[in-house]
Amino acid sequence: MPSDKTILIAGAGPVGLAAAVELARRGIRVRIVDAEAGPTPDNQSRALAVLPTTLAILEASGVAERLMAEGGRILGAEFWRDGRKLFAVSLESARTPTPFILSLPQARTERILIDWLGEHGVAVEWNVSVTDIGETHRPTATLSTGETVSADAILGCDGVHSRVREAIGIPWKGEGYPGDFSLADVKFSTPIDPHHAQITMKAAGGGAALLPFGEHEARLIGTTATPATLLEGLAGISEVVWTSRFHVAFRRAERMAKGRVFLAGDAAHVHSPVGGRGMNLGIWDAATFAFLYAQGRETEYETKRLPVVDAVLKATREMTDLVSHPPALAKMLLPLGMPLAGRLPFLRRPLAERVLALDLPQPEWL
Ligand SMILES: Cc1cc2nc3c(=O)[nH]c(=O)nc-3n(C[C@H](O)[C@H](O)[C@H](O)COP(=O)(O)OP(=O)(O)OC[C@H]3O[C@@H](n4cnc5c(N)ncnc54)[C@H](O)[C@@H]3O)c2cc1C
Repeated sequence: MPSDKTILIAGAGPVGLAAAVELARRGIRVRIVDAEAGPTPDNQSRALAVLPTTLAILEASGVAERLMAEGGRILGAEFWRDGRKLFAVSLESARTPTPFILSLPQARTERILIDWLGEHGVAVEWNVSVTDIGETHRPTATLSTGETVSADAILGCDGVHSRVREAIGIPWKGEGYPGDFSLADVKFSTPIDPHHAQITMKAAGGGAALLPFGEHEARLIGTTATPATLLEGLAGISEVVWTSRFHVAFRRAERMAKGRVFLAGDAAHVHSPVGGRGMNLGIWDAATFAFLYAQGRETEYETKRLPVVDAVLKATREMTDLVSHPPALAKMLLPLGMPLAGRLPFLRRPLAERVLALDLPQPEWL
C-alpha cells in the first residue's frame, strides 16, 4: 500500500540499504543518504557471513535469491590443533531451509541491495550526510547540502560513530576488549575446500580461522598481533587482497529510539566479529523496524530489539573469551567434548543452530 509519508534513512551501509528494501517492498516511501561517495570498496569487505535468518528476511524481496546466486556455502567447520585435525562440526542438521553460512563479501551484498533499490525507483543520495537532528516527535534532519528534511520517521543507520545517535543525545555504553585482532583476505593459486571453515586453535589460547569464499579466496582472521602472522605456514597464497588490524569493543546505545528517531545496526550496537553476527543483527533491526512501521507499531521497536541485542552481545562476548582466553578446563575438554557433541544427534542440532544464530528469537512475521 503506497504511503504519502517518507522515512529518512541516514547511512547506506548494509543496514540502511536493507531497511530501504524492506520498507520499499511494502510500498513505503524512503529517502536514503550517505556521507561517502559510494558503497564499501570491493577489496575492503568487512562482514562476510550472511546467516539463515537474514536470508529468510530477504526472501520476500527476492534479494536472498540474488545473494545465494553469488555467495559460497559454508556447510561446517574443521578444528585443528598443532597440525592435527581434532574434530569437524556440520551445520546441515539445523532446522532451516538454508543450513549454511553464506559467504559473501559485504561490498557485494551492498551492491545487490543497491541494484534492487535502483530497479524499484530508490537511488542512494551519495555525498550527503545528516549533520543534525531537530525535533524528534515530528522529526527533522539537517543535511550537509543545507536542506532541512521533515520525515515521518528517521532511521539512523550511520554506523558506529553515529551522528544521529549523538544528535539525539543517546549515551553509548559498554567497554573495549583487550588484545589485537587481525584479518587478511587472500587468494589461492590452487583450489581450497569452499564448503568448510578451518579453525586452528593454539594450545596457549588464541587461534585463527580460514573462512572460504569460493574455491580460490578466503578470509583469515585471528587473535594475532599482525596480519603477517596469519599467513605464516600457509601454502599456495597468490595474492593478499586486504589486511586489517583492529581492536574490538562490546557496546550499545542506551536506547534505540527517541520520539520518532530510531537507531539500527552499528549505530546501536557493536561487538567482536567472532560468530559473524554484526551485519546480520543490524539487518534484523532494519527489517523489524520496517515490519512494525508498516503495521503502525513502530513504538514497539526498542522493546523488541534491546533484548535481542543484549543476547547477541552476551553470546559474542562468551565466544570471544573462549577463542582469546580459553579457561584451562575448556582447553582440556574441547578436544574431547566437541567430537562427541558433533556425533550425538541431540547435541549436533543445537550446536549447529547456535552457530547459525537460530537460537535467537526469530522475526515474528516469518
Ligand atoms: C573485520 C570485520 C569483520 C566483520 N565480519 C562480519 C561478519 O562476518 N558478519 C557480520 O554480520 N558482521 C561482520 N562485521 C560487522 C559488520 O561489518 C558491521 O556490523 C556492518 O557493516 C554494520 O553495518 P551498518 O550499515 O550498521 O554500518 P556501516 O557499514 O558502518 O555503514 C554506515 C554508513 O553510514 C554512513 N554514514 C556515516 N555517518 C553518516 C552521516 N552523518 N550521514 C549519512 N551517512 C553517514 C557511512 O558512510 C556508511 O556507509 C565485521 C566487522 C569487521 C570490522
